[in-house]
Formats: sequence, C-alpha cells, structure tokens
Amino acid sequence: MLNKWEGIILRSMPYGESNKIVTLYTREAGKLTAMARGAKKPASRLAAITQPFTHGSFLIQKGRGMGTLEQGEPIDSMRHIREDLEATAYASYVVELIDRLTEDGERSEGIYGLLHEALHAINEQYDPEAIALFVEWKMLPVAGIHPVLHQCANCGATEGEFAFSFKEIGFLCHRCFHIDRYIIRISPTQLKLIRTFYTVPINRVGNLTLKKTTKQFMKKLVRTIYDEQVGIRLKSRSFLDQLESTPELLPRREKTEEQGE
Ligand SMILES: [Zn+2]
Repeated sequence: MLNKWEGIILRSMPYGESNKIVTLYTREAGKLTAMARGAKKPASRLAAITQPFTHGSFLIQKGRGMGTLEQGEPIDSMRHIREDLEATAYASYVVELIDRLTEDGERSEGIYGLLHEALHAINEQYDPEAIALFVEWKMLPVAGIHPVLHQCANCGATEGEFAFSFKEIGFLCHRCFHIDRYIIRISPTQLKLIRTFYTVPINRVGNLTLKKTTKQFMKKLVRTIYDEQVGIRLKSRSFLDQLESTPELLPRREKTEEQGE
C-alpha cells in the first residue's frame, strides 16, 4: 500500500553501498522507519529529502516490516538549522530526545506538532537553547513524568509560598516544605515560568527572550528530572554541553541575552 504522509526526518543512516535507512516522525502514522534505496548517491532524487530535519511530504510503500521511501517533496529543508552550528546542535538534541522517547508505530498529533513547531522555530532563528528547553519540559509526560504544577503535590493547596521538590516532582506549599529536605525555593515569577514551559505551546512562547540565568535555572530543573527519573543519555547532549562551555564559538547571541525576559 502506497501512502503519502507529511513528516520530518529524525535520523538517516547509511545502509550498504548506496541506501539509507531513515526514521521519520509523520503526522498521519507517527514514527516509522523506511528504506531509501539509492539515497546515499548524491545524484539520487532521494538524497536531499532524506537529510535529517527535512520537513516534507513522503510517499511510502508499506509492507510487512520496514517500509520503502519511494519519493519525497520538501516542504522546508530547514536550511538555517543545517548551516548554523548552534542551531544544528539544539535541533539534534530535540530530534534525539523525541526519537528516544517514542516507539515505531506510535502516533501522536501532539508530539508531531511539538517537533514541527520546535524545528521551525529554530530554523526561523528563535533562541534555539530556549526552544530545546521548551521541548524538554513538554516531553516529560511522554517520558511518563507528570509533574504537579497546578497545586501543592502533597496537600493540594493553591495558595501560599511554593518550592520545587524533585522527590514529589512538582510544587510543595510552605505548609508541606518539611516533607522534602531538598526543596528548591522558587519565586512567584519562577513558579509562573515553570508552568509556562510545561503548558504553553511553543508558537506562543517561542519568541520570549530569556535571560541566561533563567535558562540555566530551567535547565537544571528539567535535566535533573530526566537524569533521576527517566535515565536516558543523549549523544547530542555532550556536544551541546561542550558548545555551551565554549561561548567564544557562539559570539553573536551573547549580548542580547542579558536584556531581560
Ligand atoms: Zn501543601
């Protein structure tokens, strides 16, 4: 059966002399893997369309087992992501995270929408670090983590002072601070920010300008949750960490960052 599906290339692996095996996340059929015959040859009509991050419409022959990618039409080749080191690094992180947390054949409009919005935002030169962070927060439920952020995770109170608890994975009100020795005290602004990162769609927050310290705080929280609760190691993360600790590689963004939220 031949299907025409809209999707984004997550991964592309050389296979044999001239083929590629591609992993796509499609709007209609979720994640799937397909053989792209001849795609390794530069002259192949499949060469460009099978590049990672490409958003396109794909003609896929589905049989038993792995499908075959017959044809593809680019919708957006994500040129900026491909040409900018920082954009590539964060887009790789987003794509790897989504790939690792999903299974072949699982279909989710929500995940497709998140992937689509995040890559387009990075490609349109929104702050890629912020976009990747939004994705990390929003993928928590897919990883099986449902942080309690609308009330105190212990007593359900919605009024009072709040702290973040890794033990409860969510907020604790001041009446319940004693149940976790390692709470992180947060300001009302930080509380709102955490809710925003978790719940507000990227197309509404992608253009927020975040201070470096804000991003570091949000990153520390979400990465601790992933490390302690999900336990996946992403290859693209060590590259990102190197990039972030070598700011001279990324001169152009540093100035605008301290100007506020
Ligand atoms: Zn409480």
